Amino acid sequence: MPSSPLTQLALPHVASLHAYTPGLQPTEPGWVKLNTNECPYPPSPRVAEALRQEIGADGSSLRLYPNPKSSPLRAAVAQLHGLREENVCIGNGSDDILNLLVRLFCSPAAAAGFLFPSYSLYPVLVAIQDGRSEVIGFDRSMRLPFEKIAASTAKAFFLTSPNAPTGVAFTNADLERILATFRGILVVDEAYVPFASENAVPLLARFPNLVIVRTLSKAYALAGIRVGYALAQPELIGLLDRVRDSYNVNRLSQAAALAALGDPAYYEALIAKVKATRDANLARFAGPRGWFTYPSQANFIFTEPKNARGESGPAVAQSAYDFLCRRKVLVRHFPSHALTASFLRITVGTDGEMSALNESLDAWLKTPLA
Ligand SMILES: *Cc1c(COP(=O)(O)O)cnc(C)c1O
Repeated sequence: MPSSPLTQLALPHVASLHAYTPGLQPTEPGWVKLNTNECPYPPSPRVAEALRQEIGADGSSLRLYPNPKSSPLRAAVAQLHGLREENVCIGNGSDDILNLLVRLFCSPAAAAGFLFPSYSLYPVLVAIQDGRSEVIGFDRSMRLPFEKIAASTAKAFFLTSPNAPTGVAFTNADLERILATFRGILVVDEAYVPFASENAVPLLARFPNLVIVRTLSKAYALAGIRVGYALAQPELIGLLDRVRDSYNVNRLSQAAALAALGDPAYYEALIAKVKATRDANLARFAGPRGWFTYPSQANFIFTEPKNARGESGPAVAQSAYDFLCRRKVLVRHFPSHALTASFLRITVGTDGEMSALNESLDAWLKTPLA
């Protein structure tokens, strides 16, 4: 399609740009929504209370700009991780932080590296600023290709751990092995790490080229409030502060995040519940169903459906996906690549939602076309 004069005024790389494809957010009620790794439980009740307080009787506080550095929140995050405020930068979601890192380290001449499959936003952020992407593929084992990462010339390498969409987590020993050879910035995107058994924070003191990215969207049940953060050495945090919007996190989001971080007991129970539901369902997929399923340390399950004849593959996954959709159970299917096309990614929901999912999968197995 020839582009219009208006589009031609935009920078040339924008013409060929494909926006990120978010998971569906249906607006009508009645869906069992297991497609975007949101938390099935509400945030701490302190969050709603803090929001009401921040708004006050007449919303008058909203006249005023927010704290430009989100300083109270930086202090709370630092305390949570045993770090100092200088080690923390707050973002408008962790996507904001990831974007700032690409802004800092990536250009047509300086590549950003990442693995495939992993979080599909990285290539989009790189393309937005006309940067160069260096993509290293996993094989079906989903083990880290250490030699290829060591040989990478990327200025910044984005590693998702636990990985999406597989749920496979990498150990700190794995990360140390990368950090021993890789000279660029290693960004470890720990969006799902509250559901995992290990995290990279203990490595920060020893590796100045390590950046950890976290979000409150998943484990803190605050996807709608858009708060994430970076943990790194003060020098790197200073670079992030140079390139971020001066008021990048609004007043309500700062208040909500502070309240959530102030209720660790609530979240400890919430995370334990999600993990228990995950593990029960992992056992069911891998056991009685006999479906190949990666060992997940996240709040989702990446499983390869088998139909009644014991077949798997892209068409089988599509059939299961379509059947679930017709029953208003929404999961995620990534049909465009061989490593993902025969799988479904299923967010861990409540026990009731997982029962609905499993009943629908049983019904799918009984259909003649499955
Ligand atoms: C969900 C997710 C994010 C985005 O988090 P936000 O804070 O909501 O922007 C970042 N990285 C990965 C791997 C994710 O799955």
